[in-house]
Amino acid sequence: MTKVTETNSLQALRPNVAKLWSDRKNGDLTPDKVANRSMKVAWWKCKQCGKDFEHIINYMNSNTICKECQDLNRRLTSNIEDSLAGRFPEIVKDWDFSKNGKITPYMIKPYSDIKVHWKCHVCGYEWCQAAYDRMHERTCRVCRRNASRERIVEVSKKRTKYLKDIRPDIYEQIDKRKALEDGIDIEKITNRDKTPIWWNCNKCNCSWKGTTYYRLFHNSECPVCRKLRGEPNMKLARFDIVYNG
Ligand SMILES: [Zn+2]
Ligand SMILES: [Zn+2]
Ligand SMILES: [Zn+2]
Repeated sequence: MTKVTETNSLQALRPNVAKLWSDRKNGDLTPDKVANRSMKVAWWKCKQCGKDFEHIINYMNSNTICKECQDLNRRLTSNIEDSLAGRFPEIVKDWDFSKNGKITPYMIKPYSDIKVHWKCHVCGYEWCQAAYDRMHERTCRVCRRNASRERIVEVSKKRTKYLKDIRPDIYEQIDKRKALEDGIDIEKITNRDKTPIWWNCNKCNCSWKGTTYYRLFHNSECPVCRKLRGEPNMKLARFDIVYNG
């Protein structure tokens, strides 16, 4: 082993590398006491994150940074056009600048797996997710749920129609007197109405109670007429039948 002298030490031959020497973790050892090309492991201070890391003296150079920072940099880009923000500017609106610290959407790659903080610019919902996953889910979870709820309401609104418009023949069979007594506005009865109301059969003159929804859905006629025609009527129990006269 060659003796470390003033002329072959790390300090003498590579002062730029010596500058990165960790003064916290190497004990008494200093750059002037190690050989420039030593194969020993020493501690260094990462110039990117400031943490100490181990590396062989010989393989260390002035640009060497810690493993974590290397990993991070691999997922970063210095080309703004290729960054998340450059490629998908819309998504920057949801970037949580207060929680993501030094990382900005202009630094990370669009399909990066770094987990970052998001805050929905529409509803304010905050969450943590990798940009990679964000590429598949452009809107926040809460907004997505609200949108699907609105869609359901829209669809059901479209499907809701007044009975008097779509089936005047059935509308005619509503027992208007009883509806009035029950405080039901028959003009507002819709095809989806599940309130049981009284009906009058215009053929056999019986009264029975059932919902509009059931009548339309099962294309049901008066249960007495159906029974008279000899059709099975399993659902008869669902109706209150009153024979008039
Ligand atoms: Zn580092
Ligand atoms: Zn939202
Ligand atoms: Zn009938």
